[in-house]
Amino acid sequence: MSLLIIGSVAFDAIETPFGKTGKIVGGAASFISLASSLLNPKNGLVAVVGEDFDMEFIAELNRRGVDTQGLQIKQGEKSFFWSGKYHLDMNSRDTLVTELNVLGDFDPIIPDDWKEPDFVMLGNLSPQVQLTTLNRLTQKPKLVVMDTMNFWMDIAMPELKEVIAKVDVLTINDEEARQLSGEYALKKAARAIHAMGPHTVIIKKGEHGALLFQHEEVFFCPALPLEEVFDPTGAGDTFAGGFVGYLASVGRTDFEAMKTAIVYGSCLASFAVEKFGTESLAAVSPEAMQARLAEFKRLIAVEA
Ligand code: AMP
Repeated sequence: MSLLIIGSVAFDAIETPFGKTGKIVGGAASFISLASSLLNPKNGLVAVVGEDFDMEFIAELNRRGVDTQGLQIKQGEKSFFWSGKYHLDMNSRDTLVTELNVLGDFDPIIPDDWKEPDFVMLGNLSPQVQLTTLNRLTQKPKLVVMDTMNFWMDIAMPELKEVIAKVDVLTINDEEARQLSGEYALKKAARAIHAMGPHTVIIKKGEHGALLFQHEEVFFCPALPLEEVFDPTGAGDTFAGGFVGYLASVGRTDFEAMKTAIVYGSCLASFAVEKFGTESLAAVSPEAMQARLAEFKRLIAVEA
């Protein structure tokens, strides 16, 4: 089914205990689109970049069948730039730089072909843009999934809560769930977020997996224990892209399908962390994905 994706398409500069990059392609929607295109054939991207962006990356998305009609390229302007530094545990990081550039006044124009998508993934960017995107759709989608981060909680909490009230699924990391809800225990945090609107709340815990809450129903999916974790940037976006991409590919929105979807999301996220930026995710073959899904099945199977 059709999946409309919005979010940042960016340049990142990353520092981890293992090394440092110059400007490389990143951005929430970049990771989401790469992940989703491995699972779902019909994806459309609405985003904005400056004239400095790496057009080869856009060509790669097109080769994967991602429709980029909705990607604006602003002449004379610079792409969104984010820089982050990971702590030794690789589970937490500091944002060093956020330069909004083209994202500062982004007006998301939805191409006519994409005004009635079956599924929507509102990737990380300003809540105003997420809201405008929803308001410009001419038909209610089967499922709207949203991801966000602490940056927007710090500067735009009222607008953020306005979008959260309109989405079906919120994916968020544990620290951010606590910040958003004011609750420490994640079960209580999920309940508080349900009360804001979303019927489904997914709390990501980095290398410690992810929790799926649908009111009294809870499901947990671990992260695959890896030999090498090189750069966790984009793992959350990849997870979200795998989650919604799987649901769009099977056209389902029920709890059982969501359980499978978070296994797909976790599986793809495990690739994303193995190299800097989008490189390892872009290199995943269908066979490699199937092999890792089999590993995942073994990881979570019990004789019960
Ligand atoms: P994640 O590691 O999944 O939280 O996502 C990392 C990606 O989010 C990076 O590639 C950044 O370009 C992007 N990013 C960081 N800050 C923001 C922001 N304030 N708005 C939109 N995207 C952002």
